[in-house]
Amino acid sequence: MYEWGIENGTIWLPSGPVAGHLYGQGSQIDAISRRIRPAKNRWDVTGCEVLPGAIDAHVHSRDPGWPDKEDIVHSTAAAAMGGVTTILEMPNSLPPVRDIDTFGQRVEAFDGRSYVDFGLWSLWVPGMDESWLDSLIETGTVGFKVFWGYALDAKTLSLVYDWHHYDQPVVNPPTVGDVLEFLEMLPDRGPVVAVHAEDATIIGQRQRHAKPGVTGYQQVLWEHPAIAEDSLIATLIELARVSQAPVHIVHLASANMLNKIDQARSEGVNISVETAPHYLLWNAMDIEAFEGWGKVFPPIREVEHQNRLVDGLRKGTIDMIASDHAPHHPREKAQGWGQARAGMASVQMGLLTLIHLAAQGWLPFERIPVLSSLAPAKRFGLWPHKGSLQVGADADMVIVDRRAVTYLDQEVLKTKHPQPPWLHQTLQGRIQYVFLRGRPLVQQGDFENGIPARGQFIRPVWS
Ligand SMILES: [Zn+2]
Repeated sequence: MYEWGIENGTIWLPSGPVAGHLYGQGSQIDAISRRIRPAKNRWDVTGCEVLPGAIDAHVHSRDPGWPDKEDIVHSTAAAAMGGVTTILEMPNSLPPVRDIDTFGQRVEAFDGRSYVDFGLWSLWVPGMDESWLDSLIETGTVGFKVFWGYALDAKTLSLVYDWHHYDQPVVNPPTVGDVLEFLEMLPDRGPVVAVHAEDATIIGQRQRHAKPGVTGYQQVLWEHPAIAEDSLIATLIELARVSQAPVHIVHLASANMLNKIDQARSEGVNISVETAPHYLLWNAMDIEAFEGWGKVFPPIREVEHQNRLVDGLRKGTIDMIASDHAPHHPREKAQGWGQARAGMASVQMGLLTLIHLAAQGWLPFERIPVLSSLAPAKRFGLWPHKGSLQVGADADMVIVDRRAVTYLDQEVLKTKHPQPPWLHQTLQGRIQYVFLRGRPLVQQGDFENGIPARGQFIRPVWS
C-alpha cells in the first residue's frame, strides 16, 4: 500500500509523455505505473498533465531587508501557486549573502518560513579571494551573482542603479578585467556565475545625454538599449571561452545575440541563458500603457525581440525560464517611467506563461518540462533529486489542466502586493495541484492555507 497516488494523468517523463500513475511512500516517487495500485491518498487527475515541479533560478524575496516589498512567506506561496517547488534565491537582500556567515543566516531566516525548497546564490564583490570562494562552494552555494552593470553601496553592498547620482560611497561596477580574474578562479564543474549583462558605461552615457524629444517608454529604451546587453554578452562569451568557467546570462531581454550564443556553445563555451515571463508575454507596445508598473531592467523590448526570444525557447538556445521576481511596494511602482523602481513580481508566472505560449501554438508542450525544470536542475547541481519525474526523485509534482484558464486576481496572486501588469490578466491553462516532496501545497487551484512551511535548503551536488 502506497501513501499517495497521482492517477490517470499524462506523465511527462524525460523520454516523453505516458498515460499512467505515480505512487510514493513518502517524499520520493517510488513507482511509475501503467496500472492502478493500492494507495491511501489518491488524486484523480484525469485529463491533466503531470509535470516535474518547476525550478525558478532567479528570485528576489527581499527577505530580510524590505518587508514592505515582499518576504519569503509571500514569495514562496506565490511560487507554489505557480508550480514552482524550488527557488534559487538571489543574494542581494540585507545583508547580502556574501560569505559563510551571511549564507548561514539566510538559511536560518528561510527555515520554517519557505513553502518551497530553496538554494542560495552568493554575491560576488570585486577583490574577493580564493579562500572566500572555496568556503562558499563548500557551504553549498549554487553560484555567484555578478552585477556587471551596476554599482554597489560600499557599506550595505545593496544595488545602486543610478550610481552617477548617488550620494554615498560605492563599489564601482566591475571592469572586464575584474570579471575575467574571477572566472579564472572558478572550477569548471561547479557553481555557476550568473551575470546581469548590461553595460554600465553605455547606460551612463545615454542617461547623461538625453535624446531630444524622446520621452516616456521610448526614453527607457533609449537609456537601456539592446547594445548595452549585446556588447556585454559578446565580451562574456569570450571570457567564458578563455576561462572555461560555467557562466549563466540572467533575464535575457535582447534577442540579438542568440545566434552567437548558439555558436559559442557548439564550440564548447560553457554558457547558459534564462529569460523571464514578462519578456515573452509582452513587448514595448504592450507595456507602455502600464507606466512604472511595467518597468524592469533590462527593459521589455520591441516585438521582434519578443518573437525571437520565444524562438530561442523553442530551439533550446535559451535554456530555461526564470522569473527575476523583484517586487516593490505599490507606492514605488505607481509612478512615471522615470521615478518608478525597476522590477516585477513574476515568480508565479513562469510555468503558466509557457503553458499559455504552448496553448497559442508558439511553443511545443514537450519543451515545458525541460525549460521549467530539467534544465535548471541540471545546470545548478540539483538533478537527479529535482528536475524530472523518475523513481527515486523528490515527489515535486505539478498538475496542469490545459483546457482551463487562470484569471489573475488578488486572490490568485500570492505575492504581497498583487499589481499590474500581471493583475487582471487571463492566461490559458490552470495549475490544479502542486506537491512538494509528496505533500500538497496547492489543491484544486487554491493554496493550502495554514499548512506548515516545509521548504528545505537544497545543496547542489556537482558531478
Ligand atoms: Zn534579478
